[in-house]
Amino acid sequence: MTIHSLAAGLALLATTAVLPACAARARAELRSRELPAPPAGQRPPGIYLTWLGTAGVVIDDGTTRIAIDPFVTRDSLGHVLLGRPVESDPELVDRWLGRSGSMSLDAVLVTHSHYDHSLDAPTVARRTGAVLIGSDDTLRQARASRLDSQQQRAAQVGVPISVGRFTITLRPSAHGQPEHFPGHAAEDFHVPARARDYRTGEVFSVLVEHPWGTLLHHASAARKPETYDASTRADVVLLGVAGRYEPEGYLQEVVDAVGATRVIPIHYDDFFRSLDRPLHPLPGLDLLELLATMEQHRPELRVQTLPLGEPRRVLAAPGEP
Ligand SMILES: [Zn+2]
Repeated sequence: MTIHSLAAGLALLATTAVLPACAARARAELRSRELPAPPAGQRPPGIYLTWLGTAGVVIDDGTTRIAIDPFVTRDSLGHVLLGRPVESDPELVDRWLGRSGSMSLDAVLVTHSHYDHSLDAPTVARRTGAVLIGSDDTLRQARASRLDSQQQRAAQVGVPISVGRFTITLRPSAHGQPEHFPGHAAEDFHVPARARDYRTGEVFSVLVEHPWGTLLHHASAARKPETYDASTRADVVLLGVAGRYEPEGYLQEVVDAVGATRVIPIHYDDFFRSLDRPLHPLPGLDLLELLATMEQHRPELRVQTLPLGEPRRVLAAPGEP
């Protein structure tokens, strides 16, 4: 381990070393806000979300399926700090996509190229036939993973992409603090690589419009002045809550800025724990306090949560209750 990597490791440890004593209470609070499960054996029409942990979600309108930041191969903090290679596990990808009924996907989007957003994206695209849309860094990772070039598409901010009845627009965004591995991946990036080799690259948020409503996926806790303008509107914001920020200001800059009435926190779970273990909040993140702050932020703002790996209807089709 070099001095530089040790410093990065210690910085990472500083934000993750303190395990909260109240993981079970946090899980209960999350459950109390969960979007309800559909009646057994039924699937009322609408747009469904399946949360895969961290910022990973599958969005499904019954015909078209899109994944954003799917990441399920979670190594331990020690593994990452020691600089051991992180490597996408196709069996885990199959298992978690299979659970959410997403073995066929139309598009995979990556909001920035840190490994907790992009590590599994090439595998997900390969296993599902989806087109992978991401920054130059993400596509460098996809090439290193030998994803078919026909399944790679360079992200262009502000240019709407039609996928089924969805219209996806990438907005230019910024990475929150702390940003452990800034900059761009090496020209000779190859896999398997260390977590720190997965550099930030370009950062996006994702506006997902559909005739039944609009979702905004905002994964990292920062933005640029130009990320959202007065014409950017969304019904529901999937809000990444990892990192250091002032919660009220962050809610104003993202959730209020797009006029959303519902917010779904994401990226609050400790991603150094396997998805098979009970969820713990990210160490250093006071999730209970954050949920309370969100709830008190604006009277008309509803805070909702998603269970892991189970589809939940987030927007009903017209005429549906
Ligand atoms: Zn990141």
